[in-house]
Amino acid sequence: MRDILSRQGCEALQSLRDGRVLFAFDFDGTIAPLASHPRLSRVPKPIRLQLQTLAALAPVAIVSGRSLADLRRFFPRFPGFLVGNHGAEGLPGNRAALRSACHACSVWRPHLCRLLRACRSGDDIWLEDKVFSFTVHSHSPSALLAFKRYCTQDVLRFLPPMRFLPGKASVNLLPLSVPNKGNAMRFLLNRTRAKRGIFVGDDETDEDVFSASSEHIVTVRVGRSRRTRAAFLLRSQREIGRLLTALIALRRSSR
Ligand SMILES: [Mg+2]
Repeated sequence: MRDILSRQGCEALQSLRDGRVLFAFDFDGTIAPLASHPRLSRVPKPIRLQLQTLAALAPVAIVSGRSLADLRRFFPRFPGFLVGNHGAEGLPGNRAALRSACHACSVWRPHLCRLLRACRSGDDIWLEDKVFSFTVHSHSPSALLAFKRYCTQDVLRFLPPMRFLPGKASVNLLPLSVPNKGNAMRFLLNRTRAKRGIFVGDDETDEDVFSASSEHIVTVRVGRSRRTRAAFLLRSQREIGRLLTALIALRRSSR
């Protein structure tokens, strides 16, 4: 993978200098450092200011697995787009999909709670209920594996079927019917009439964008991954400030 902050990477970024361009970012592990608990996450003030500066120069979107309400807590007056629940929440035209996702989650909820009680056995494992999807968090990989095994063994209880997306110290449980981050990115490109864009993310859920992107989208994975479909790498989350500085300078030099 090529480093987005290398000479080659900076050449690719030149395509984002002029015209309608969408700048989109994942939240946890991308603009916010990973935390031991989702509630402990913070977007450093300099990064927040840089995102606001960039949003004054071009359309900006935060596309996250967090609920929309949670994102609004971090960005109460954000001038760009906030998209939650892995692409399902925050964009117009999704009402029917959200209704069916809400229904699916209400069917799964009691079974998930029962399964969690069954595989707790001393390990820290807990359920984050985001109304339209769930995330099961644990610092124990074996507990997450056991939980997923319980779910797949008990598949008849989980109809409509769920999609499992591994995260960092977590597993996401999503209805199949809802838009993913790739769908959200496509929608945002249309909505902003952007011909080009960049998406930066660190996790398996961001692969929905990386795998669906055309050559007009600069795709950047935070941290190394052997399986990623992203074209570029940002070596560490700590480098997001450097990338934002480069993007702001680029847009300011726009003709
Ligand atoms: Mg992430």
